Amino acid sequence: MKESNIDPRFYNSETGKPFETCLVCSASLQESGDDYFVERIFRRVPNLGITEAIFEYGMCMPCAEQMRKELSEESRKKVEHYFEQRLSERDPESGEPDMEICLLTGTPIADSIEFSYHVHCRGDRMVHSIFPYAVSEIAMEEISTLLSDETIDQLDDFKGKYFTGPPEYADLLNPKRLIPL
Ligand SMILES: [Zn+2]
Repeated sequence: MKESNIDPRFYNSETGKPFETCLVCSASLQESGDDYFVERIFRRVPNLGITEAIFEYGMCMPCAEQMRKELSEESRKKVEHYFEQRLSERDPESGEPDMEICLLTGTPIADSIEFSYHVHCRGDRMVHSIFPYAVSEIAMEEISTLLSDETIDQLDDFKGKYFTGPPEYADLLNPKRLIPL
């Protein structure tokens, strides 16, 4: 699989560098050279003309797999099915990752008040597969309707445990956005 240097769009906004540690187990992500995922959830504030990351993290592959495993099977299957269906409808273009277009709906990310970036990294490199990709608010909303109450509770717990940002961001962050994609 093709690899390249991690695009600065996927850096930790606090350090201006690639994510150093796993959100869950604090394992080092850079030194090990192991696979990990980065997710950044953004919100646009149109009247201020700014876009800010309201939650972002790196997560090692074992922790990401564990998190998926703990989610209810029903929700997980529905989300997987949604992905498969949407991707089969999209033109599978291979080429440079297009972070301006939602992977799932094909709509411009510029039209989304909320959106997220999802990246697969290995040490200081990023791996190109279906990753990296961007997800629009429309897709996030569609996905959120697939989640069971049990899953929403689990995501709420996850937010409570790992969200350490300012309280005003905590209010903005919908736990349904934390479903691993
Ligand atoms: Zn971990």
